[in-house]
Amino acid sequence: MLNPCFGDSTATMGVFPPTGQEYIAASLKGFVDKITLLDLRYDKQYQDPQALSRFIRAEIDLLCIGIQWDARFESICDFISQLPAEITTVVGGRKATEEVEYLFGRCPNIDMIVRGEGEEIIQQLVSGVPYPEIRGLSYRQDGSVVHNENHELPDLTHIAFPDRSLRGHDYYWSQYGVRLSRHTFDTVLTTRGCPFKCKFCTFSLNPLGQKREYTERPLESVIEELKTVTADIVLFSDDNLFTNPKRAEQLCDLILENGIKKSFVVQARIDIAKRRPLLDKLQKAGFKVFLLGVESPHDRILTNFQKGITQKEIRESLAILTQYDFYLHGYFIYGNIGETEEEMLYIPKFAQEIGLDSISFQKLRVEKFSPFKEIVESTPGYYYTRIGGHVYSDKYGPKELKRIRNRIRASFYTVRQLLRIAAKARRIGLVTGRDVAGSLVRLPLVLPLMIWSSLNKKNRKRKTHAVPPPSTGESSRVRQTVQNT
Ligand code: SF4
Repeated sequence: MLNPCFGDSTATMGVFPPTGQEYIAASLKGFVDKITLLDLRYDKQYQDPQALSRFIRAEIDLLCIGIQWDARFESICDFISQLPAEITTVVGGRKATEEVEYLFGRCPNIDMIVRGEGEEIIQQLVSGVPYPEIRGLSYRQDGSVVHNENHELPDLTHIAFPDRSLRGHDYYWSQYGVRLSRHTFDTVLTTRGCPFKCKFCTFSLNPLGQKREYTERPLESVIEELKTVTADIVLFSDDNLFTNPKRAEQLCDLILENGIKKSFVVQARIDIAKRRPLLDKLQKAGFKVFLLGVESPHDRILTNFQKGITQKEIRESLAILTQYDFYLHGYFIYGNIGETEEEMLYIPKFAQEIGLDSISFQKLRVEKFSPFKEIVESTPGYYYTRIGGHVYSDKYGPKELKRIRNRIRASFYTVRQLLRIAAKARRIGLVTGRDVAGSLVRLPLVLPLMIWSSLNKKNRKRKTHAVPPPSTGESSRVRQTVQNT
């Protein structure tokens, strides 16, 4: 199992373990003799493709590579292309599913691509089921690529826990190789899918555009998994943990009853503020960070998004949430259809008015299965350059939106706000005083690396302008948040 994503653009993504591959590894138990998981963010001796190829030739019969996100996609393709062609190579993951055709063309040594959720597909593959009978598999045959029909969505209740025993190290928040916190991180999934239908969001779809029906894992199984997790901070990677508030309350009860002492990070809709007893329990159970889908301060845009909330409701919800000692992060989208510069620049002011601790703001995107694709195509003056890319208009092109983004960032992330964030993160136990002091000491180490990395990024951009941009898909908001902040 190989996580090939490493490098400066993923510095803060080092926080999260390769859980997707650990799920696949767990599903392979009993089907293969030995599994080795290499995560190139940490297994640095294999960042050299020659060194990795030597290891693969000596030890590996089947190479399973996960490509989840947009980050460094082209570099990953270059890297994979240098691995041994004689070893059977299977690629899977969200990004791989979106880029099946491109990957087969780009990397001649890829033999198969597992599309969508891969646990059952990989089991069939290693059990010797003939390729044409494996749903969800794309493979090469006689010089062309065969795509079998889609696999049905797996039942979440029967999926094994991710195999964390394969990790060679803990996961920390580090920037440019410099560790910024002594807390360890992990992720746990308790539900899949989301019943809401926000227009800009494809999280409730799998990468094939199939609706991921909302399904819940039994809470007993979630607790059993949590008992095996050694990390200090756990992200519940559900789209919205509170879709079933009764279940969320039961989860808190079970966390408390079982004496599980961790800090939890969770994605939520602002509606959660309507449930005071649940908020009280969440605080007791160790929920500390809320990643909230606010999206926009403007009712017109919220209506276009079909978000189902208004500015007034956002204000009322935040008035309640800020009474608790939660760290509140808000997601926003700017550059929306018909949005003026003045409206975009209201985002940081609004975020401060309602008491958000931090924000991330992303440009509107057009995804393969997003209803916005048609809307953008039929709105005069608006365009996108590729599926998975951003939406621009004649008035607000890439340059203008970049300028606006910088103004939003500068207006929100003032020195005062940064100090507030540090103080709160320390108060609620996300970082320790020693972490804050340590970060200040390590700042001289990080700064030159940041400058070097940003110069490097510019050079890379200049180089890649020479080739046509690949079609890319969506990254999870958590990932993007981590990158943006
Ligand atoms: S934005 Fe959130 S609430 Fe809306 S559909 Fe996506 S995951 Fe569900």
